[in-house]
Amino acid sequence: MDKRDLEREFHMTGGVGKTSYARNSSLQKKASDDAKHITLEILQQLYKETKPKSLVIADLGCSSGPNTLSTIRDIIKAVISAHRREIPSQPLPELNFFLNDLPGNDFNSIFKTLPDFHLELKRDTNDDESPSVFIAAYPGSFYGRLFPEKTVHFIYASYSLHWLSKVPPALYDDQGKSINKGCVNICSSSPEAVSKAYYSQFKEDFSSFLWFRSKEVVAGGRMVLIVLGRKGPDHVDRGNSFFWELLARSLADLVAQGETEEEKLDSYEMHFYAPSAAEIEDEVNKEGSFELVKLEMLEVDKEKGNEDGISYGKAAAKTV
Ligand code: SAH
Repeated sequence: MDKRDLEREFHMTGGVGKTSYARNSSLQKKASDDAKHITLEILQQLYKETKPKSLVIADLGCSSGPNTLSTIRDIIKAVISAHRREIPSQPLPELNFFLNDLPGNDFNSIFKTLPDFHLELKRDTNDDESPSVFIAAYPGSFYGRLFPEKTVHFIYASYSLHWLSKVPPALYDDQGKSINKGCVNICSSSPEAVSKAYYSQFKEDFSSFLWFRSKEVVAGGRMVLIVLGRKGPDHVDRGNSFFWELLARSLADLVAQGETEEEKLDSYEMHFYAPSAAEIEDEVNKEGSFELVKLEMLEVDKEKGNEDGISYGKAAAKTV
């Protein structure tokens, strides 16, 4: 798939069925919960420093499902408490949420739950003290411009920036044949050129992400980015690469059973890259639009990932 097709076609499974993202995203929820103390602390700092009457918050790669609105709920509560601490005699700020994902995302299933969301919000906050909350969608790729110039105070992206803008073109030779046969991402048998190709695509994408956001964020604005990453320089570990290895093996089983062609498995790649902390830091410094205030590695606790009572193996399979 080239970049244009990918932007048009890529999406998590919509709706609320058994295989929907909405019902298979507890791992992602856990990751954003683990980082919530950082997200809310940075947001409250921003509010304390800028105290805008109308605050604009964007969620990049918001997907569809319970995670989208639960983040918004936490953010609203955090702003209200910062407001009460700082300027309790003034009216609450208006809160504007810009939801972003690729156009194929099931935005409608989020919109359908908004009436209930607003009701709950009124109930949770005190009726005459609840802030005005406006929620809008801005579909498009975050590797391009999304929002009007200098409009956003706070940018949040959880579990989305490890998706690249495209499969790195350097993975295919002059005849269009894959140099990463039998794998769908960087795996133990991949030649070194494969990890190089992925890394260079990450650098290109992440720096354009930073550049476009720098146009949209107001002076003094903040971003919190939660990304799948690697502990160190090695690309192959028991983390992300292990997941893709499992997927490749399952696809190989389908090939062996004659369900799909070997050609298809050979050319198939996941446009995914898990950067190390050093790679992120390098790119932020090189691109230069933003200052890196905090960079933390958090480990997802596998045991806690299966609150639905299923084994870790099954949860991992469902995630992939
Ligand atoms: N933030 C949510 C969703 C994570 S799933 C959560 O924490 O649960 C990752 C999302 O990123 C998907 O919905 C996917 O469509 C979106 N995404 C991937 N690449 C994107 C791009 N280039 N622009 C916008 N969204 C993208």
